Amino acid sequence: MDRRDFIASVAVSPVAAAAAAAESDLDATQTPASRPLSITLLGTGTPAPSLTRQSSGYLIEVGSDLIVWDHGPGAHHRLIESGHRTIDVTHAFFTHLHYDHCMDYGRLVLQRWDQGADRIADLQVYGPPPIARMTQQLFGEDGIYGPDIRARCEHRSSLDVFEARGGKAPRKRPSPRVTEIHAGSVINGNGWKITVGHAQHVQPYLECLAFRIDTKEGSICYTGDSGPSSTIVELAKGCDVLIHMNHYFSGTEPTPAYRAACGNHRDNAEIAKRAGVKTLVLVHLLAQIDQPGIREQIVHEIQEVFDGTVIWGEDLMKLGLVNARVTTIETKQAAE
Ligand SMILES: [Zn+2]
Repeated sequence: MDRRDFIASVAVSPVAAAAAAAESDLDATQTPASRPLSITLLGTGTPAPSLTRQSSGYLIEVGSDLIVWDHGPGAHHRLIESGHRTIDVTHAFFTHLHYDHCMDYGRLVLQRWDQGADRIADLQVYGPPPIARMTQQLFGEDGIYGPDIRARCEHRSSLDVFEARGGKAPRKRPSPRVTEIHAGSVINGNGWKITVGHAQHVQPYLECLAFRIDTKEGSICYTGDSGPSSTIVELAKGCDVLIHMNHYFSGTEPTPAYRAACGNHRDNAEIAKRAGVKTLVLVHLLAQIDQPGIREQIVHEIQEVFDGTVIWGEDLMKLGLVNARVTTIETKQAAE
């Protein structure tokens, strides 16, 4: 192997190889292929360690945009398993800053920046305060990753790889474009609109939000983490798909405060019924209820109240929507 081959092989990681194969995708002047609306469940677990259910994360494909909703630990690994490239993520939204919803934020920003080699647009980031401060404290000059970023921007060995990936020195630091949002915020994208609602969770310590996306193909609402709340009913009204936290089995909650913050399966049945959604997807599932017999009992008891479709979510499940209907549900075996 000669020197040129060595540099090329260092530069061309599997992700970079895909980027090289799809060179035009990196060209900001070209519009990527338009996609119908879909949501992929990247992480359907909780803060508890699990090999089968990573922490919270969702991936929306709409038009030319790839949007993540929350990015908890393991969610980014699932994103790559789902067949997508880090560099193709255009927007990241956070419902709240519990670590099981945001710990892979650093991985997303840094890998995207590294692989993108200054040839892709900055990531658009939306979340409740203090997402701007968190971003600064992670990626700013005095931030947690400040010394790493400086080394990659200035050391000759890192610049060799950066330039082999197509970058041109001086190398820019990662600079996610952060917008702090609150219940009532509306974000308009290219062929989509995201409306932000209030989630009932762990206030006043964290501001907690829920999201709804509307497109010409359909609508999806994601509660983030929320107990039973009329604000969720309002936000989800008439949605095609409601992604709802289903943390535990009704009646097993340790305290009323726990139920108010996390809800239970019978609460979720009422919320889905009142909101008039077509499909309810259960996520944020504890191992204690993710058992044969218990799953079926939960789904059956929800269907006694709610007459739409009930889906037991799993990592890498992908729901495709056309004309306001879920037309495809794909599953994929996650690597453990
Ligand atoms: Zn939470």
